[in-house]
Amino acid sequence: MARRRLGLLSVVVPVYNEEESLHALRARLTAALADLDFECILVNDGSSDATPDIARGFAREDPRFKLVSLSRNFGHQAAVSAGLAFSKGACVAVMDADLQDPPELLPDMVREWAEGADVVYGVRISRQEGLLKRAAYHGFYRLLASMASIELPVDAGDFAIMDRRVVDLIVSMGEHRRYVRGLRSWVGFRQMAFPYNRAARHAGSAKYTLQKLFGLGLTGMVSFSYAPLRLAALTGAGISILAFAAGVFFVLHRLIGFRILGHTPEDVPGIASVFVLMAFLFGVQLLILGLLGEYVGQIFDEVKKRPVFIVDELVGLDPARARGVPEPARGAAVESSADRPEAVER
Ligand code: UDP
Ligand code: MG
Repeated sequence: MARRRLGLLSVVVPVYNEEESLHALRARLTAALADLDFECILVNDGSSDATPDIARGFAREDPRFKLVSLSRNFGHQAAVSAGLAFSKGACVAVMDADLQDPPELLPDMVREWAEGADVVYGVRISRQEGLLKRAAYHGFYRLLASMASIELPVDAGDFAIMDRRVVDLIVSMGEHRRYVRGLRSWVGFRQMAFPYNRAARHAGSAKYTLQKLFGLGLTGMVSFSYAPLRLAALTGAGISILAFAAGVFFVLHRLIGFRILGHTPEDVPGIASVFVLMAFLFGVQLLILGLLGEYVGQIFDEVKKRPVFIVDELVGLDPARARGVPEPARGAAVESSADRPEAVER
C-alpha cells in the first residue's frame, strides 16, 4: 500500500468552558506531537469563562496554536465543523478538550493513516462514566447501528483522524444539523477502527447536558435512518388490519348471532374497553405525528440554510482559509488581544 508522507497534522479541539483543562491539554499535546509538524485549532464554542483568553495566550506563545471563536454556543458538532473548515493539514485529528481522548494515541493513529487508512476512528473499549450513562451510550449506538441505512460503527465518537479528502467532503456537505461521526462513515473510503480506553474527564464537569445529548442522538437517528418512519407506517398498517378483522368479526357476530364469552349480540358490553382502545390509538397517532415532526423539523432547519456556525474572531488564522463557510460567517482575524476593543459594559 502506498505510504503517505505527513506534511502538516491539524488537531481540531472544540472547547466550551474548559479553562481547567486547557493547560494540561497543551502540555500533553505538545509532548505527544513533539516529532510531528502540527497545528492545533481550538474552537471556542461561546465559552463564558477564561477559555478564549487562555487560548489567545497559547497562540501568542506558540503560533502552532490557533483560535476560532464562535459568536455564541453553537454546540459540539458545529464547533467540530468549524475547526474542520479552518484546518489545513494533510491529515486532521478531532479530539475533546477534556483529555478523555488521550493525545498520546495520535502518533499511532497518524501511522495508520500513513499506511493508507483514510479514517482512523477511536472505538471505546472502556469508558469511565456512570453506569446509567454507559448503558445509555451502549444501547443508543447499537440501536442506531441496527436502524441506520449505512454501516455505523458502534462505540465510536468523534475522536478520529481523517485524510484531507474526507475532511473536504464533510466540510462541503451543506447539512445544518450535523452528526459528524455519521458523515465521516457515510463518505466511505478506507475506514479503520482504533480501539482505546476512554479516560475520565481531566477537570470540570461535562459540558454535554442531557438535553444536548438527547438532541445529538435524535440528529443521528433522523439523519441516518428512515427506520422510525417505516416502523410508524408498519404500526399503522398492523393496526388497520386488526381493526378491519375486528369489523368483519363484529358484523358476522351480529348477522349470525353467535355468543362471545357467553354474550349475545344484544348485550355486548364494553364502553370501558372501547375507551381504552381509543386512548391507546390516540397515543400511537400522537407518537407517530411527533416522529414525523422530527423529520419535518430537520427539513425546516435545512431549508432555512442558516450557516452552521458564525465566527466572531480568528487568531493565527485567515478568514479566506475557511472552506464551505459563507463569507459573512467567516469572522475577522484578530492577531493579538490588543486589536480587540474592550467589551462595553451594558
Ligand atoms: N463542547 C462544545 N460545545 C458544547 C458542549 C461541549 O464545544 O456545547 C466540547 C467540550 O468542551 C469538550 C467536548 O465538546 O471538549 C466534549 O464535551 P463533554 O466532555 O462535555 O462531553 P462528554 O465527554 O461528556 O460526552
Ligand atoms: Mg468529555
